[in-house]
Amino acid sequence: MTPMDQRVIVVGAGVVGLMTAYALKIRGIDVVLLDAATPGRESSWAGGGIIGPVPPWRYDPWVEQTICQSQMLWAAWLADIERRSGVACEYQRSGLLLSGHPDHHNLVAEASDWVKETERPFVLGHRADFDKRLPNQDWPAILLPDVYQIRNPRLIQALGRALLDLGVTIITDSPISRVVHSSGNQLTVKAIGGQSYLATHVVIAAGAWTDDILKASGLAPLGISPKRGQMLLYRLAPRDLPAHIINTGQGYLIPRADGHLLVGSTVEDVGYDYRPSEHANRQLMEVAQTTWPHATPDNLVQQWTGFRPGFGEGRPSVGLVDKKKPGLWINAGHYRNGLGLAPACADHLASAMFPYSSPNIKPNR
Ligand SMILES: Cc1cc2nc3c(=O)[nH]c(=O)nc-3n(C[C@H](O)[C@H](O)[C@H](O)COP(=O)(O)OP(=O)(O)OC[C@H]3O[C@@H](n4cnc5c(N)ncnc54)[C@H](O)[C@@H]3O)c2cc1C
Repeated sequence: MTPMDQRVIVVGAGVVGLMTAYALKIRGIDVVLLDAATPGRESSWAGGGIIGPVPPWRYDPWVEQTICQSQMLWAAWLADIERRSGVACEYQRSGLLLSGHPDHHNLVAEASDWVKETERPFVLGHRADFDKRLPNQDWPAILLPDVYQIRNPRLIQALGRALLDLGVTIITDSPISRVVHSSGNQLTVKAIGGQSYLATHVVIAAGAWTDDILKASGLAPLGISPKRGQMLLYRLAPRDLPAHIINTGQGYLIPRADGHLLVGSTVEDVGYDYRPSEHANRQLMEVAQTTWPHATPDNLVQQWTGFRPGFGEGRPSVGLVDKKKPGLWINAGHYRNGLGLAPACADHLASAMFPYSSPNIKPNR
């Protein structure tokens, strides 16, 4: 069979499923994307959009290296995605300023050790050297300039439109119960509503819900579980935003170009409870107000929750589900870095599935 004879179903249309569909489609593979509800409305919408592990030394080095690969892919693929969709995703090199209470979080010392070891670029100084509006100007601070951000709700919109333009079929409101091997090399994806979809390959990319599909398909669960995260959104004048993403050790602040400021985030084991909590509201407001004086209660406009696909130390599962089950693949468990990891993981998976194909993007179509 040539790649042209293959049909892949991707189950789950968060950023991981959307990028998997994109990486396959630009290799000339026929792709159908299925989602339980509306694409990209779960964790991929709720996340902050930082493209870089924060802080990097607390993660498996694989995570940081894979995000570096993703940064190159984002730059290359977004040109095509934005042109096809007409949506600007605001991918930008914001830099990450690490600076917390010197007695509580030795962030700067930890960062200094890490940059020396990895030879990553950095600028070491005090808060006063980076932003004169920060309180506690004499606190040590370190800037990691190669941390990027993306406006993830816009990215989701852009990816949906770009995939339709490329000819991917997107089926919404179709929760999948299980995947079964049929006769020959075919797999059948069964929806809760009773529909069945046939494919030569299936990729399970259902974020925090991935284990439910594995179990219902008679496969061993991986241990992916929902880790709730809450965020606050402030609306400021663009001139009142911080110059960089800031991490204090207690939380982080992400400035958006139009004056929005995101403050995150909690990590909670509460199952799938979507209700924002008072406790998180107070905790995140404290981070905001002690770090950035412009973030006052009057400027607070929204609070939300999302369910990260929590999995071990943050290294996702990307590849065959089981060597004895040909055609059934997984791309899930990206935990706190799904936006940072999605392009490189999608590219790795597409290469593993179709080793003799390569991406074909025509920049000046
Ligand atoms: C508060 C918060 C802050 C974050 N900040 C960042 C950040 O700054 N940078 C970063 O890189 N990451 C961040 N993350 C993590 C990031 O959002 C996730 O790692 C990423 O979105 C996971 O993508 P996903 O596609 O695997 O999952 P999701 O986006 O959750 O998508 C899963 C999809 O599968 C669908 N689905 C579920 N069950 C079924 C089924 N049975 N059948 C069909 N479809 C199904 C869902 O409807 C959904 O659309 C943050 C997350 C949160 C919650």
